[in-house]
Amino acid sequence: MSEIDNEEFCYICRRPESQCGKLIKIPGNICICSDCMQSTLDTMQSAGFPGMGFGMDPQTMGFANTEPTGSASDYSKKENNESTEIETASDSGEDTPDKKDNDKDKKSDSHRRMPNISMINLSDLQGLMPNRPKVKTHKKDEPIHPIIELKDMPAPHKIKAALDEYVIGQEQAKKVMSVAVYNHYKRIASSRDEDGIEIEKSNMLMIGPTGSGKTYLVKTLARILNVPLAITDATSLTEAGYIGDDIESVVSKLLAAADNDVEKAEQGIIFIDEIDKIAKKKNTNQRDVSGESVQQGMLKLLEGSLVEVPVGASSKNAMVPMVTVDTKNILFICGGAFPDLEEIIKERLNKEASIGFRADLKDKYDDEPNLQTKVVVEDVRKYGMIPEFLGRLPVLFALEELTEDMLVEILSKPKNAILSQYKKLLAMDEVELRFDEEALHVIAAKAKEKKVGARALRAILEEYMLDIMYEIPKDDNIGTVTITKEYIEGTGSPLIQMRGVPQIEGVS
Ligand code: ADP
Repeated sequence: MSEIDNEEFCYICRRPESQCGKLIKIPGNICICSDCMQSTLDTMQSAGFPGMGFGMDPQTMGFANTEPTGSASDYSKKENNESTEIETASDSGEDTPDKKDNDKDKKSDSHRRMPNISMINLSDLQGLMPNRPKVKTHKKDEPIHPIIELKDMPAPHKIKAALDEYVIGQEQAKKVMSVAVYNHYKRIASSRDEDGIEIEKSNMLMIGPTGSGKTYLVKTLARILNVPLAITDATSLTEAGYIGDDIESVVSKLLAAADNDVEKAEQGIIFIDEIDKIAKKKNTNQRDVSGESVQQGMLKLLEGSLVEVPVGASSKNAMVPMVTVDTKNILFICGGAFPDLEEIIKERLNKEASIGFRADLKDKYDDEPNLQTKVVVEDVRKYGMIPEFLGRLPVLFALEELTEDMLVEILSKPKNAILSQYKKLLAMDEVELRFDEEALHVIAAKAKEKKVGARALRAILEEYMLDIMYEIPKDDNIGTVTITKEYIEGTGSPLIQMRGVPQIEGVS
């Protein structure tokens, strides 16, 4: 097992103690190296901070009668002295022998207190600096300690079975993903072998319509495997130096998801959604800072590189400690809806068909459902993803569009199905909630019209359940509420049964 240690870093220059020498500890769990401490004090002095005039001669600076500056606690004393001085001067109107003596005393006093020298109270700075997050690093020259040992790694069929409990349909996608993650974690476990065979990374490119379960699949997968997951949107990423998130900021999110444990983050999953939005722009003369160059910028990250990421923040600045994360073992999953990709697929299929049969079935694929599942790398390249980028995402697959029947299943079948959640809520009021099978189909049909996949289901149900959730708790005698097709269609009301009355058959 590799030795895990917590190395202290300089809060400002972020060098570890081994590089910059003994660190000065100040309150608030902050460490600063002596170089940074010196340059901070120098900066404060040149910026004219009160109490920072080290060694400056007040005479040569034109402040002959200036009181020696003092620390914060001395200020009140100084103010008192000044007011006394003004009073004395206005009393006499000229320098009296008394006043001269007084001045002399003061000068000798200031020499005793060393002119213009004071100490800053470092605890005053505490409020300016947030507490440094603890980072768990590991020695880079030691082999990685797999977060999932091979013996604990569930076989692909077990991963798929676990996914089945939550995700409806998408059989091919679940199968492909199960095998890909299985191989990925096998790859990490075998990285300690010295046989010279290195298994290639199985980063994935997932294509599927909005609301078909892309994000949900990845989230479920990460939860089943208990590995850290970071989700980001490709549209927010820009080439380094432009407004927007740097490409590496996603690694910083993953580190946060892994509780700042670098070794754990290095074996996590990063999901980049809306990847189709960074497709190469067609016919543009401008610099493509949010398209092709972002793809270019991601190449190293996908393949495996060392990135310096800020800890506990998404942007790099002098106050944020940095840590190095190796992306070699991070599994990248990119997802996107790729609208109009069907046209490219159709064109290719038609071309292929015309070779043998002379364009006899030109519109053969026009009504083909789920054309996206026939995608090949060439189609995505034509769409605008650069070949180098696609080369680093060797596992390509597509999700199906959800049918009405699948939407009905999504409502009721998964482990935390929406209907089960409403049933649980009403059960707390000791009311049983039932849904007519037909009502579910009407809800699914309404959701399908919205063309946002399963995402529309909750919004539609919410609309109908609001009145139920509001009215039912009013009456303690209500035992069962049945949502009927008529209620969803707006032509009737839900069926309400009082306690002690026999139940009706045929509802779920
Ligand atoms: P997208 O494909 O746009 O990333 P999401 O994965 O975010 O879509 O899906 C939105 C929601 O719809 C999910 O949170 C989930 O509850 C539900 N959902 C989508 N597809 C499925 C599915 N195949 N099985 C079960 N629930 C699904």
